[in-house]
Order: sequence, then structure tokens, then C-alpha cells
Amino acid sequence: MKIALISDVHGNVEALQSVIATFAHYGVEQVIFLGDIVGYGANPNECIELLRGMSDCSIAGNHDYAAVGKTDITYFNPHAREAILWTAEVLSTDNKRFLAALPLMASRQSSIIVHSAPRHPELWDYIISPSDARTNFGNFSQQLCFIGHSHHPGIFMLDRSGGLCYKEATSVTIEANTRYIINVGSVGQPRDGNPLAAYGLYDTQAREYRLIRVAYNIARAQEKILAAGLPRFLAERIAAGY
Ligand code: ZN
Repeated sequence: MKIALISDVHGNVEALQSVIATFAHYGVEQVIFLGDIVGYGANPNECIELLRGMSDCSIAGNHDYAAVGKTDITYFNPHAREAILWTAEVLSTDNKRFLAALPLMASRQSSIIVHSAPRHPELWDYIISPSDARTNFGNFSQQLCFIGHSHHPGIFMLDRSGGLCYKEATSVTIEANTRYIINVGSVGQPRDGNPLAAYGLYDTQAREYRLIRVAYNIARAQEKILAAGLPRFLAERIAAGY
């Protein structure tokens, strides 16, 4: 089974459409969504509708809950707050209902998915350092944990003897005696210095994970952000990938 793991779309429908257009080429059979379909970008409703039509499993990100008043936005930076207030105004009632009903986590036999971190997912902590990862490995029992949230793709690995390492690697073969926390990066607002849309592709038979990068019409997404009256910084950052 080939599974696409997509996260942090943030209302960028140009990026999402270009990502979806690659699915046939890679033989994607299932789509799992790791949160933050809205916030920052100009097309939250369109992104939700695409997601609803294709996702086999979806969970909430902090921006999804913020847009429907389910999480506090006082800690959001001013650009994020402005964007989420705009998003809350333009979302359809039906799409708001969809966001409000998303769970914080989902688990399968050998993996869990969560937007931020398995330990208290409702606090939206980041897993950035090896010590963040070590703490969180204690909060799930499966071999694999897929996350988003930081918009930085990367892989934390914990071996049987307790050795932990981090790789900004774009691919990994899943080994029997190792556990993994894998950040799949961001579709709609990458922050790793590479503006191309990112998503994870996991082949459950071959036990191979890889990061896919996809070019999309950034200029069009920027024009829409500006036309919507959203902060200029949000248009600039998607071209720079930060
Ligand atoms: Zn995000």
C-alpha cells in the first residue's frame, strides 16, 4: 500500500492541487492528512473540499481548531492571528463543522498520526530537538509516528539500545528494531528554505519512506493572498520557503 501523508496545506490550493496531481505517478492508494488545512493562505474552503473528497483519515492542526474557536489564539503571532480571523469569516458553515469534528490523533496498527506531538497534542508543542523526540517516544507504543506542525521535514530514529539520532534525510528504510518520528514537511508553506511543496510517501510493503517535493504556481498563490488583503509577509514567505 502506498500512502501519501500530507500536512500544513494552510489554504494554499495551488500547492495542494499540484501535490494531488503527482499521486497517480507515485501510485498513491491512500491519503492521510496531518492537520492545518487552513490558515495563512487565500483558499481555505477550496482546500477543505479537496481534502474531504480524497482523505482516508484526517486529524486537526492548531490552525484548524483556531478557525472554529476550539483553541486559544493569543499565542499566535500577529500575521497568523490576522489570517485566522480572516479564515473564520470566509469559511462555510459546513466546512467549519468539518474542522470542529476532526480528532487530535489517529492510530493504526503500526503507526500513529498527530499534528504536533503525541504527548498532550492539545498543547501544540513542537518536536524539534532530539530531547523533544526522546520525551515523545515514551508517549506512543507503535513503531511509527507521523507529524507536521514545524513545516520542517526530518526523521528522528530511536534504536533498541536507546540511541537517538535525527536526520534531515528525505528517505529512510523502516528497520524492524528502530522506532521513528517522521515530520512530513508542509504542502502550502515550507519553512526549510525550499519553497517546493512537500509531502511524505510511505510504501508499507517495501517499508520505504520518502519525501516528495512538488513545484507549483507560487506567483498565483501570492496574488491571491494579496488580493484577499492578507499580510504581505505571508505572500513573501511562500516564495522564500521560510
Ligand atoms: Zn502549520
